[in-house]
Amino acid sequence: MRTGHTHLFIPGPTNVPEDVRQAMNVPMQDMRAPDFGDVTLSLFSDLKGIFRTEKGQVMMFPGSGTSAWEAAITNTLNPGDKVLMARHGQFSTLWAEMAERLGLDVLLVDVPWGAGAPVKEFERQLAADTDDEIKAVFVTHNETATGVTSNVAGVRRALDENFHDALLFVDGVSSIGSLDFRMDDWGVDLAITGSQKGLMMPAGLGILAASERAMEMSQTSTMRRAYYDFGDMVKMNADGYFPYTPPTQLLHGLRKSLDRIATEGLDNVIARHTRLAEGVRRGVAAWGLDLVAEHPSLYSNTVSAIRTPQDVDARDVIRIAYEDYNTSLGSGLARLAGKVFRIGHIGDLNEGMCLTALSVAEMALIRAGVRLEMGSGVAAAQSWFVSDVQTERHFHVAAE
Ligand SMILES: *Cc1c(COP(=O)(O)O)cnc(C)c1O
Repeated sequence: MRTGHTHLFIPGPTNVPEDVRQAMNVPMQDMRAPDFGDVTLSLFSDLKGIFRTEKGQVMMFPGSGTSAWEAAITNTLNPGDKVLMARHGQFSTLWAEMAERLGLDVLLVDVPWGAGAPVKEFERQLAADTDDEIKAVFVTHNETATGVTSNVAGVRRALDENFHDALLFVDGVSSIGSLDFRMDDWGVDLAITGSQKGLMMPAGLGILAASERAMEMSQTSTMRRAYYDFGDMVKMNADGYFPYTPPTQLLHGLRKSLDRIATEGLDNVIARHTRLAEGVRRGVAAWGLDLVAEHPSLYSNTVSAIRTPQDVDARDVIRIAYEDYNTSLGSGLARLAGKVFRIGHIGDLNEGMCLTALSVAEMALIRAGVRLEMGSGVAAAQSWFVSDVQTERHFHVAAE
């Protein structure tokens, strides 16, 4: 029998705030009713703010984030198109696999898991591509498997400096709405997210924004698509409707979660993720453990992937935390299985919750055989949170 809260510190699905959960508890509705747009139209405009785009076209497909990957690819590219992408974690690996399965010619750059998108190598490949054979560059903004945030603006610069007009695709599933992401400033053509990470919702909406250029490409692109067709979706969305039954409850929940983000202020949301992540990282450093991310400039503010010592199986840490302390920590994915556990610090989160994650992880690490001083990680994070209290006040004032 489990008592109390079961804590969720995985990088998605994230904790759904109580008022978002309540907002979804509504009777079923007629999705063709004349006033259905009252529910939906504001979502499209407010999501633009989350993507930081003025002219981007926002769409929501019933599905998880992966569905938005597929929609982005099949609507804008052509069979056999060459696309440039890097593999540096499980999500970029899966995205590359999808691109191959859908019939693209994937130019893969393998870099270590823990590195970011290789801007210099992309730059070299783009410069060498004088016939403009590369039709798109794919960047995983925040590689959730390794806790690495990549330099999207740098990839944009590499494209611009080579006068290369490949489309820029960005997987922002674990960054958009929680890390600094700028669709327009960075010239992103296809920006992809899902409902269950920064947006603090259940899974079920694949959300994307397409630039004007991407929308133009979708007029002539010849890849096969049906369910995920941009044209069908955009035509119906114009009046707030969908080409098929939308998950109405999720739309109500999204309304509430966007209200929450607006009330806190997106800049404050981003600052909060930065502050909380720093506390977690200080805790990890106090344990003497390493992050997978190779360099501080790559540290993700939504998830930390933590290496256990060689003789300790990270799966034991995760199992003990779950079975004995009601706490879900993220697992090591694919080649990181057994070597890494992750603390998700994304979405609806505060200092106390991060301290719980560190405290439980500490107990589980010690019981799994890691030698560390009990309380050391918690104390390091506490010191940071206390020292940072002025900054927090500043943000509260700014939000009021
Ligand atoms: C979670 C995640 C995905 C996959 O999203 P699903 O909603 O599980 O389909 C893709 N990319 C990144 C970076 C993610 O974190």
